[in-house]
Amino acid sequence: MNWTKDMQALDRAHHLHPFTDFKALGEEGSRIVTHADGIYIFDSEGHRILDGMAGLWCVNLGYGRQALVDAATRQLQQLPYYNNFFKTTHVPAVTLADTLCRLAPASVNHVFFTGSGSEANDTVLRMVRRYWALEGQPDKQWIIARENAYHGSTVAGMSLGGMAPMHAQGGPLVPGITHIAQPYWFGEGRDQSPEDFGRACAAALEERILELGEENVAAFIAEPVQGAGGAIIPPDSYWPAVKEILARYDILLVVDEVICGFGRLGEWFGSQHYGLEPDLMPIAKGMSSGYLPIGGVMVGDRVADTLIDTGGEFFHGFTYSGHPACAAVALKNLEIMQAAGVVQRVRDDVGPYLAQRWSALADHPLVGEARSLGLIGALELVADKATGARFDKSLGVGNLCRDISFANGLVMRSVGDSMIISPPLTMTRDQIDELVSLARQALDETARHLNVAIHK
Ligand code: PMP
Repeated sequence: MNWTKDMQALDRAHHLHPFTDFKALGEEGSRIVTHADGIYIFDSEGHRILDGMAGLWCVNLGYGRQALVDAATRQLQQLPYYNNFFKTTHVPAVTLADTLCRLAPASVNHVFFTGSGSEANDTVLRMVRRYWALEGQPDKQWIIARENAYHGSTVAGMSLGGMAPMHAQGGPLVPGITHIAQPYWFGEGRDQSPEDFGRACAAALEERILELGEENVAAFIAEPVQGAGGAIIPPDSYWPAVKEILARYDILLVVDEVICGFGRLGEWFGSQHYGLEPDLMPIAKGMSSGYLPIGGVMVGDRVADTLIDTGGEFFHGFTYSGHPACAAVALKNLEIMQAAGVVQRVRDDVGPYLAQRWSALADHPLVGEARSLGLIGALELVADKATGARFDKSLGVGNLCRDISFANGLVMRSVGDSMIISPPLTMTRDQIDELVSLARQALDETARHLNVAIHK
């Protein structure tokens, strides 16, 4: 009897995993994660692995927080479930809404709860169109999004997202959504300076608005830093130019904060880092540090005032909108983050420290660029450092490096040939040193596999 093998067999027999080639996984078998503590996860074979992805960009406070367990227990004992439909409410939802609005940009003072980030973006789509209908402009239907963006896996989330492989599988997409270029300088803009490229990507927004006609465009949606697309940090010129364009036309700004929210970039929200005043902000993940599932859409005054003052029912909501136990855990999570100054620490201490240590990996023969902001970062793996030429896709270099890294004790994610990190925000400087040295080890071993010379 081998417990791990038995469990893998059961997994293979009955469990279809998200974003997975079922056949390939069945042949390989899953790693069974059994427990976690701080920034480490542990598997059934006794390996300790530094979780450089904070789960799925969500375990912002790290694992093993008894206070979050206690908050869930207390709430489950007192009121495990009640809804917020039909003129009812409960204390965890109200208190969490109040806390969130205190942390958000000044013009954002309402929240609509959901169970996830995907549901939040479904809500965005419905709310944006409802807003313009109430404003007497029902033709304002088009939503401009970006190529390679990720906004979720529901049909609306996937349609708003710009992931070509998802679109190819999804059947007809939600109509009225169009995609423009992403501000991915290393991948798509190196024939220009980053600043010129950032402005060119912003100009693409204006061109699309003019093509569609301002009177038909409802909103622009974007992540402050594109996460699942590859930790794409826009050039500094990008967001100021986008802001200027949106101000010129009467179009809502939706900032998807599902990854960037709750401290990732060193401010409570990515919008604050970039000085944005969003009309809508989908949130999830770090809001509860992933201990229980909860999401929402934060709604700016312009949209909220119309939705509230014009009246009429908004026919939309989820059984678990504002689930009491999830809300209680999120509230405790935010309290701990505030009391410990986690966000300021990312901005003033560990974020800059990571930037310094991570950027040093750019000297590696495989690395074309090493970038980070706050506690999100990427390494671009290249075949030729001088030209930035990529490896042949068929080599699957990103996945190779990811598998080596995992086996050596560090979770990094690969997006094509970009290696991504988004570790818990509680990382100490020593732990950052450990992460960076494990990343270098993974790069060295990948280079050896590929027969790339390493000069030390
Ligand atoms: N938006 C962004 C920016 C995301 O990164 C994600 C999840 N990775 C989502 C939305 C969807 O969130 P969920 O998986 O909770 O549905």
